[in-house]
Amino acid sequence: MYIIIGQNAPNSEYFCLYCECNAKSRYNMDLSWSHTGNAKGNKRPPLFPVIDLFNYIPDELHILLRISDVLIMECNWNWTSLMGPDKEILLQYFPVSEFISGSRGINIENLWREFYRLYKILRKSSHTDKEILEFEKDAKNWVRTFCHPTVGQMNSAAATPELYRKDDVTPYMHVFAMHIPYFLRWLKEKGLSLRLFSTCSVEKKNHEQVKLFFGGTTMGGGKKTKPVVYDILVFENRQIFYLINDIPNEITCNNINIQDNG
Ligand SMILES: [Zn+2]
Repeated sequence: MYIIIGQNAPNSEYFCLYCECNAKSRYNMDLSWSHTGNAKGNKRPPLFPVIDLFNYIPDELHILLRISDVLIMECNWNWTSLMGPDKEILLQYFPVSEFISGSRGINIENLWREFYRLYKILRKSSHTDKEILEFEKDAKNWVRTFCHPTVGQMNSAAATPELYRKDDVTPYMHVFAMHIPYFLRWLKEKGLSLRLFSTCSVEKKNHEQVKLFFGGTTMGGGKKTKPVVYDILVFENRQIFYLINDIPNEITCNNINIQDNG
């Protein structure tokens, strides 16, 4: 994505595809950024100059995956290989407060649940203007809570401890709070919604293919001379052929037991 638009990498000072926010201001939800594109981070001309910047729609699945990675990483659990639906379940139900003690655990658990609630809103197939406005306010507040500094005397019982550091606010969180509301409005005008642009079906397909073709390398005798892509295409061609010609792709096997009564 960054290569296509000719931008610096997402870990650079001017990290955003859509605005000129710098890395140090990323946590600050009181600033507002106009959707002008990012001339400061441009290192090369875009590959497809004919495509307007705002036709590059942020992908909701990666917002879910990458933001939940940050939330989950805190717990030192290596769950980054989980798929979208698993992470949704985790965000929705996992009892974080049983694993992180005190008010910090409770606050982090609330942070997970609130992120899940907001994610469900952005996944809706249509939104009212009011819903988008609320989403914008709540998403910014979510980032504020995420990196809110310790309130009160450190280590005292009355203190509200910091949940995450300001530096932990990622470019995805910036897009989530600062640009998603803009895209929701813009797509709404055109009778569209963000979920139509999700890459989750492509990712699912990729996962299935990896499982089927890379997972079973010894399938059919082990050593293969043809590349895996060849197998994938052959397999899918057959599936399509079966579908078009209405051929069942399961075989019902009847075993007849013949008993020798003689
Ligand atoms: Zn931005």
